This record gives sequence, C-alpha cells and structure tokens, in this order.
Amino acid sequence: MSKSLQAIRGMNDILPEQTPVWRYFEGTVSRLLDNYGYKQIRMPIVEFTELFKRSIGEVTDIVEKEMYTFEDRNGDSLTLRPEGTAACVRAVLEHGITGGGQVQKLWYIGPMFRHERPQKGRYRQFHQIGLEVFNLDGPDIDAELIIMTWRLWGELGIRDAVKLELNSLGTSESRGRYREALVEYLSAHHDKLDEDSQRRLKTNPLRVLDTKNADTQAVLVDAPKMADYLDDESRAHFEGLKARLDAVGIPYVLNPKLVRGLDYYSKTVFEWVTDKLGAQGTVCAGGRYDGLVEQMGGKPTPGVGFAMGIERLVLLLETLEQIPEEISRQVDVYLCAFGEEAELAGLALAERVRDQLPNLRLQVNAGAGSFKSQFKKADKSGALYALILGDDEMAQQVVGFKPLRGQGEQQSIAWDALAAHLATCVVQG
Ligand code: ATP
Ligand code: MG
Repeated sequence: MSKSLQAIRGMNDILPEQTPVWRYFEGTVSRLLDNYGYKQIRMPIVEFTELFKRSIGEVTDIVEKEMYTFEDRNGDSLTLRPEGTAACVRAVLEHGITGGGQVQKLWYIGPMFRHERPQKGRYRQFHQIGLEVFNLDGPDIDAELIIMTWRLWGELGIRDAVKLELNSLGTSESRGRYREALVEYLSAHHDKLDEDSQRRLKTNPLRVLDTKNADTQAVLVDAPKMADYLDDESRAHFEGLKARLDAVGIPYVLNPKLVRGLDYYSKTVFEWVTDKLGAQGTVCAGGRYDGLVEQMGGKPTPGVGFAMGIERLVLLLETLEQIPEEISRQVDVYLCAFGEEAELAGLALAERVRDQLPNLRLQVNAGAGSFKSQFKKADKSGALYALILGDDEMAQQVVGFKPLRGQGEQQSIAWDALAAHLATCVVQG
C-alpha cells in the first residue's frame, strides 16, 4: 500500500472549525488599520534569494539556516519569503512610490516560511500581519504603531496578557561605537562565552545580548549598555517616543537586551510579549530601520514597521477564552423542504429572501431526506430558525417558521412576508 499523503511538518491546515477565529482576528485588524489610514499591499510569496540576503543580512539566523531556498527551472535561486519587510521595500522601490519623500503607510498579510523546529507557536509556514511606514522619521509615527497595537489588544480583550518591551539601538553611528565597546568587553571574557556567542561575537556581536546561555548572561551583567552610547539624536527620539506612550497611558518596560533578530533595525525596537503561551511569547515585534532602503539600493528613506504572528495571537485568544460566541455561528436560517414540488418552491423562495436580505446567512437543505433527518441537519448547522415547506405549507403558500434555540412556538408566515419577518428576528452581521 502506498504511504498516506501528509502535509509537510510545521505546515498546518487551518480547518473549518478554526477559520472563524482567524477571520475574526484578521477582520478586526484590517478594520483597525483602515481606520488609522493604512493601505494594503500584496507582494509575491517567492522572491530572488538575493533580496533576503541583502536586506536581512547574511549573518542572521534566518539567512544562515532558516530559508526555504531552491533553484527554479531557469536556474535562478528563489526563496519562499521568511518575512515581509524585504519584499515590501523591494516593491515600493520598484514602483517608485516612496520617491520624493512620499509617505507610505502600508500593511500586508500572508504566509511566511522558515525552516525552524516546529513546536507550539512556532511553525515552518506561519502567518503574519505586517506594517511598514516610509518617509516619516519622527518618534510620533513609532508611537502611532504602538498605540494602534495597544488598541487592538483592547478590542480583542487580551490587553492584560501582553507587555510592551522597548529599547533603542540608536543611529548607526552610535550603534557602531557601542558595538566596538561591546566587542572589546566580550573579547576580554571570550572563554566564558558559549560557543554560539563566540561565533556571534565575530559575525553579529549585538546578538550576543539575547543569548539564552546562563554563563554568557552572567558575563553580560557588567557589559557596556547601549543606553550609555546613544547620541543626542537617538536619545531625543527615544524620549519623544516614551513621552507619547506616557501621554496615552501605555505601560512599557525598558529592555536593554532587546536587539531583535534582524540586522536592519535602528533607534526604536519593541516587542509585545505574553507569558501565557510558554516559550513562544512574542506576539508582535518591530522597530525602525532608517538605513534599510538605502542598503537595498534606494535613496535614504526612513522606515518603521512591525509584524505580528497570527498563530500566536489566535492561540492567545483561545487560551484566554476571548472568542466572541457569535463568530462561530455561521447559519442564521435553515430551510427544509419535503417533496419535489416543495423543494422547487423553496429554492425560489430562498433566492427572493436573499435578494431582500443580502447579509442573511440562509442555508437550503441539500440531499433531500426525511423530516427527522432534515431537522437534525438544521439543528446541527447552528441555525437559529428552521423554515419548513411541506404539503400543508405548499397548499396555503406559507412557510413554517420554527425557532430552534427555544425562543417560542412554530408559526406560519406567508411567503410574501417572510423576508420582512426574518429582518425583525435575525440580527444580521
Ligand atoms: P522569535 O524570537 O519568536 O523567533 P522572531 O524575532 O524571529 O521571533 P520576527 O521575525 O520579528 O520574529 O516576526 C514577527 C512575529 O512573527 C513574531 O513575533 C512571532 O509572533 C511571529 N513568528 C516568527 N516566527 C514564527 C514562527 N516560526 N512560527 C510562528 N510565528 C512566528
Ligand atoms: Mg525567529
């Protein structure tokens, strides 16, 4: 017998029972982004490998070991996107929509691919909603991004479960000076560092700061601090951001070890973390990347953005039981018809009702069946009401209207009056 077909490890199906939560989440976020004046952009899922090497940096975990890279039939090296910023920058440059200082406030949604070890909250195909703003360099827009996510957590009912961590990596000049001091200090303690950190010390020294190794962490206690190396510009930017968060009343903790996995960040970096999901606690992360567009061949263009992990946020909604009950009900009314003549009349009636109530979720029974079996299906559908068309109803040109969730007795409604009646008893989404 042939081996049964399976999905690739770490790449998940999202089954019909789960999609309502996803759509609720995605709908809530996209409405919020619309309301703050952000516009959606859609990029391809596959790009030239070179794009990610140039933007993310050769010596990051993503580029070193997590990318899905392959050769296509032309011999080009292509990569399934591991994140969205690179492709978004490529797209705005290619179409010239950030030229001349044009402000762009963009967002995107879709699958990302990283060859990581699959576990709860960490997958190989996962989904992000991301956002990028170009040509605004002040702390006001950094603050807006954070304020917007704060509102989102509020709307979703998960505000108490997440915490904002904040840091500044400074301008590239001040980061350069800090890197030198850090390398000097860590080199003096080289033997006490774990192997990974010894390697990072050469390739990407700031990444040593987010080591999980206890011995290395002990060495870091007395290491130089970024905060002492910020120049006036970086300091003023960071203070400006904090003042705005204070004005809106958003609590945060300063985390000097927050450096983010990607090379391109500068000044503001932040993460929203939760302790409700175990080790995979970061649900949204981002920061400023003022040098990236130039690094990718464009004119100097300030940028700032973030990405949130949809799987982790859906898990958090489920864990905290913050899923509104009404989102899982997908049928308002279920029409049962008995006999061929009733079935034809039922079809026509259903279409007339749909003409008048385009948002009504009306399901017509398919596959015929006895009275009992159609009722069972009506009940299982989750519908609030069943509509019944049998011989008696046909004769009188009425439809039986039966509450399925215990709201009163069955009544007869004239066909012509059905839509008006449904409008009064079904709240339409
Ligand atoms: P982590 O530290 O958890 O590996 P990261 O710093 O690599 O995250 P980013 O590249 O900043 O993550 O992506 C933004 C968000 O996307 C993360 O905060 C997380 O919510 C989500 N995310 C990242 N990688 C995965 C993954 N493999 N599976 C599920 N969600 C992910
Ligand atoms: Mg990662």
